[in-house]
Amino acid sequence: MDVDEVFKNSIKELNEFFEINWIENFPELVIVPDRKKIDELMGRKTEDWMVGWIGKNKVYALDSKNYEKESCHKYSEDEYSKLIKHELSHCYFLKLSKYKSEPDWLWEGTALFVSGQIKTRERPLKFEDFLEFYSKKSKYVYRESGFAVEFLVEKYGKDKLLKLIKNLAHNEKEFNEKFKEIYGFELKYENFN
Ligand SMILES: [Zn+2]
Repeated sequence: MDVDEVFKNSIKELNEFFEINWIENFPELVIVPDRKKIDELMGRKTEDWMVGWIGKNKVYALDSKNYEKESCHKYSEDEYSKLIKHELSHCYFLKLSKYKSEPDWLWEGTALFVSGQIKTRERPLKFEDFLEFYSKKSKYVYRESGFAVEFLVEKYGKDKLLKLIKNLAHNEKEFNEKFKEIYGFELKYENFN
């Protein structure tokens, strides 16, 4: 597959979603050959599900050729394209938020939603733990967060989501206040279920 083409298309679609006209100095895509190189770049032993991440204006992704050999994921062109879009969307999030990336559920949830990855994931029966991931980093953040963001966009529109990302706070308490100000209701599971 032509990853540069995927990257270019993702930029086009993300420009539209985030309403940012990013046409120059946009992130560079770095294809990483194997797990050994991922560990080297990250400076630690990484988990087998970790296949993409971002750095300073860079998007890193495990080489599609070694995808199944070097990770626990199944490879398909569609999944791989969504991975690239997911990572790239984090760069857009940072640009919009002026380099804030908490809460983690909003950070990952937006990437899962906008990349389309939630379409192939199992929908949770109810929301019950995504709010635990404000600062806490965990692979469980991926379980509900994309669907929580989908709920916010489908029910209240994209503008409110973009406004929330533009106004991220310095701590959880301030964020909850900002959320209430923008959405008109408290950030509680009962308002999502
Ligand atoms: Zn992510």
